[in-house]
Amino acid sequence: MELNGKKVLVVGLARTGVAVVRFLAQQGAEVTVTDMRDEEKLAESLAELADLELNLELGRHVPHSFLMADLIVVSPGVPMDIKPLLMARSQHRRVVSEVELASWFIEAPMVAITGTNGKTTTTTLTGEIFKACGLETFVGGNIGRPLIELASSGERVDRVVVELSSFQLEGIESLRPNVAVLLNLTEDHLDRYASFQEYIDAKLRIFENQTSEDFAVLNIDDPLVAACAGKLKARVFPMSRLQELEEGISYRDGFITFAHNGKVLRFGTDGFRLKGVHNLDNIMASLAATLLLRCDGDCAYQAVRTFKGLPHRMEFVTEFNGVSWYEDSKGTNVGSVVKSLESFPANITLIAGGKDKGGSYQPLAELVANRVSHLILIGEARVRINEELGHLTDTRLTSSLEEAVELAGTLTQPGGVVLFSPACSSFDMFKDYAERAERFKAAVRALEEEAKG
Ligand code: ADP
Repeated sequence: MELNGKKVLVVGLARTGVAVVRFLAQQGAEVTVTDMRDEEKLAESLAELADLELNLELGRHVPHSFLMADLIVVSPGVPMDIKPLLMARSQHRRVVSEVELASWFIEAPMVAITGTNGKTTTTTLTGEIFKACGLETFVGGNIGRPLIELASSGERVDRVVVELSSFQLEGIESLRPNVAVLLNLTEDHLDRYASFQEYIDAKLRIFENQTSEDFAVLNIDDPLVAACAGKLKARVFPMSRLQELEEGISYRDGFITFAHNGKVLRFGTDGFRLKGVHNLDNIMASLAATLLLRCDGDCAYQAVRTFKGLPHRMEFVTEFNGVSWYEDSKGTNVGSVVKSLESFPANITLIAGGKDKGGSYQPLAELVANRVSHLILIGEARVRINEELGHLTDTRLTSSLEEAVELAGTLTQPGGVVLFSPACSSFDMFKDYAERAERFKAAVRALEEEAKG
């Protein structure tokens, strides 16, 4: 689409919105920006755009502008089902997400990664592998830099790696990754979707524009992911931790095997710094995506061996009095907590709770019964979690994270593990998961000082 002279409405002005506006202005579009927040709250973003001529509709949305726009670009934080967007769509206005707009201007081969959990880890590692193999790589999307920044910088890159959320995927039309990865599908965001199926359908859109020249990397250990294999136009490249594959990537007895068109590469997993079964999935997905896009096996392997992982995802904090403390504040849904619990055989004190997302906690039941010695609950969700899981182990309700940490210190026996993996979002008590993580770590360190003192 030629943007010069077109009326474009940008909905949502956070970091991505600012980048979108700048790009559209560069392209000669007539830009209107709308955001439910007012001028005062948006002061910082507006200052960055001070040199541009823009129409501002802040603190409100003006239906007329939605109806008059040639194109509406939606920032990632804005739900696609707000009233003015629904109305615009019903009137056949063109509504796209920022990643869709960006994709019109990007030519480099693209890996796109989605799933309920592991997206950021896999996206980051995939980028690291490409870079280690000497390829100029842009890494972004739902994490770090918005994709539109690549389009607007005019940088020439060899590869693009993007993390895509279900919300971003709802606004694509033609985005077509050369390799699309689906890591897993478990319940999440039921506070924003009418049903689990609707959430799955949004995720599956990552494959919708692919052709037989592209690859779909599918984690076939996940039944819901495996079920979509038959419906795709792309070539399916399966991954599995549970079965060996003649074509695909699989794990067995300390080795990952990549097998494609008669070529077989084997990688020993001893000495990987990334721990936990779920990270094996993330590593296999990253290796598959990069090797399919012609990376050298030795270079890729080196990059995986040196990758340390990301903070707030099963991060080791400290050990004292014979107890190890792990912070997994990014464990914001039940699926990720299942994997965190599977990483320890027994004697776990689990601190969980936060803002409830409306899903069931039942997938945790067996692990809580068998591996969790003490369950300490915090936040809004504590009552509901207690109703579903409280009878399975020694369970306590507390009123703050600090109180929970102190109690965990008292209850956990030497040899045990304290795991903070909330299964909920953080917004009931904290600004975000990073602040929640810092508060946890500070409380643990204070307790450690006291113990040493
Ligand atoms: P996302 O970007 O999808 O939220 P992250 O890499 O940030 O994924 O990890 C989020 C949470 O999910 C962390 O608690 C992490 O330990 C857990 N996790 C990471 N990879 C996986 C996976 N493949 N399957 C299940 N849980 C995972």
